[in-house]
Amino acid sequence: MPETELPKPTFRRVLLKISGEALMGDQGFGLHPPTVERIAKEVKSVSDLGVEVCMVIGGGNIFRGLQGSAQGMERTTADYMGMLATVMNALAMQSSLEELGVFCRVISAIRMDEVAEPYIRRRAVRHLEKKRVCIFAAGTGNPYFTTDTAATLRASEMACEAIFKGTKVDGVYDKDPVQHADAKRYDDITYDEVLARHLKVMDASAIALARDNSLPIIVFSLDEPGGFRSILAGQGTYTTVHA
Ligand code: UDP
Repeated sequence: MPETELPKPTFRRVLLKISGEALMGDQGFGLHPPTVERIAKEVKSVSDLGVEVCMVIGGGNIFRGLQGSAQGMERTTADYMGMLATVMNALAMQSSLEELGVFCRVISAIRMDEVAEPYIRRRAVRHLEKKRVCIFAAGTGNPYFTTDTAATLRASEMACEAIFKGTKVDGVYDKDPVQHADAKRYDDITYDEVLARHLKVMDASAIALARDNSLPIIVFSLDEPGGFRSILAGQGTYTTVHA
């Protein structure tokens, strides 16, 4: 269905979570500007409809704390490096969004006033009310967490109606669909089933936090052009994780 004919989204405020790897294209590392731009366009298409958009972007395309600590680095230092990687990704996304004429703020959980705004909840809410896209960077600001948990935390604080988790596949499967042709996709699944079956949707602490705050998680494919806009209108293929 052409985008213009899609029903209007019923969501007022949402959070889009993507991993850092979503920004690296086929490069295997770092940032691929055309890919960043493609995702920025997806965000613009939703923001243009008046939907208030929060974003959390991981840092795995640059650095992950666990990877550093496996190589002998002290874990908390490695995690801070991972958090800084998310700031780089957030700035790249901000640049792309601004290039497209979308007003946007990068809001960091670690103070770096020359680079990004500090996280002040009421100020972030005000930005959203003014239809500015808010990119929450530096995770939760604490080591031993991931950006999945940061996404759930910020979505709860911002009173988002759902987390949209953009991935490489169009939902949650009972096993890896890339490796198993008979993998079965769920249309919907409960938080408890995700945890009990160790399904790779988000890490366990993020799923538990979403469950405790009744925050639905909608898993969809970011590779599908216009996918974010369609899913917001309830069209296309996706999995909803709920109570
Ligand atoms: N990180 C952290 N605390 C947070 C969020 C992230 O310490 O609240 C660090 C952690 O080392 C993590 C890295 O930042 O490995 C990058 O985040 P993540 O692994 O979630 O990125 P993604 O896999 O989504 O690209």
